[in-house]
Amino acid sequence: MINQDKESKITLLGAGPGDPDLLTLKGVKALRTADVVLYDALTNEALLEHAPANAIKVYVGKRSGEHSYPQETINKLMIDYALNYGHVVRLKGGDPFVFGRGYEELDYAASYSIPVDVIPGISSSIGVPALQQIPVTHRGLSESFWVITGTTTSGEVSNDIYQAAQSNATVLILMGLKKLSKIVEIFKAAGKHNLPAAVVQNGSSSEEKLIVGVVESIEKLVEKENVKPPALLIFGEVVSLHPSFKSLAKHYASIA
Ligand code: SAH
Repeated sequence: MINQDKESKITLLGAGPGDPDLLTLKGVKALRTADVVLYDALTNEALLEHAPANAIKVYVGKRSGEHSYPQETINKLMIDYALNYGHVVRLKGGDPFVFGRGYEELDYAASYSIPVDVIPGISSSIGVPALQQIPVTHRGLSESFWVITGTTTSGEVSNDIYQAAQSNATVLILMGLKKLSKIVEIFKAAGKHNLPAAVVQNGSSSEEKLIVGVVESIEKLVEKENVKPPALLIFGEVVSLHPSFKSLAKHYASIA
């Protein structure tokens, strides 16, 4: 029902990595007052239950093989709903500003003078390793971490990966599964054949899969386990802290 009395407002809300309990309390409060929810593929639909039953819920994501909504269409829908219905919650996977195109939506809303609130979410880049008890920094092992895209707008791996591979940082790569061969090649060229590496598919969900190895072995393991997107790639000494890496190391020591 069109409600002209309501003030137009947009909330860019980070949904977290998948587990619906990983939404913030502030996020729950925003959903409770939503007139419309526009949600992406990487958000858990269970979160929609926080929104009123009569709120309009629109799926604007893409799942493999399906038609995807161009960003321009999403921007327009968001404005249209805000002008006609009031409070639009734009629910996005992880954190809206970590490879989430959140700022583009914020900017577009600003061009219509519609106020925008941003509620951060737990980004998969940090949350998914944490759920595996892999710290992204650890005294003596890693003093920093890089969060990099495996696939840039041009379809290539980011040039930053070449630099990150030279460093001692923990390297977290999003949207990188299809580029794993190329990424492994980059780490090998940097002499990091034995650097611990992990791949987490669907972190925090029931379809979660964890693969642990080293740069040299990770690609074969990922193929063998038939890992599918969404997946996070983790490169760095911190992966050696995972219990399955410790048993792997013991195994190699015993056959050496
Ligand atoms: N804004 C999101 C990232 C969007 S880009 C965030 O902050 O998490 C989408 C990429 O994020 C996926 O290709 C994958 O690399 C990663 N990703 C998102 N959710 C994930 C999950 N539950 N497990 C593993 N990787 C995930």
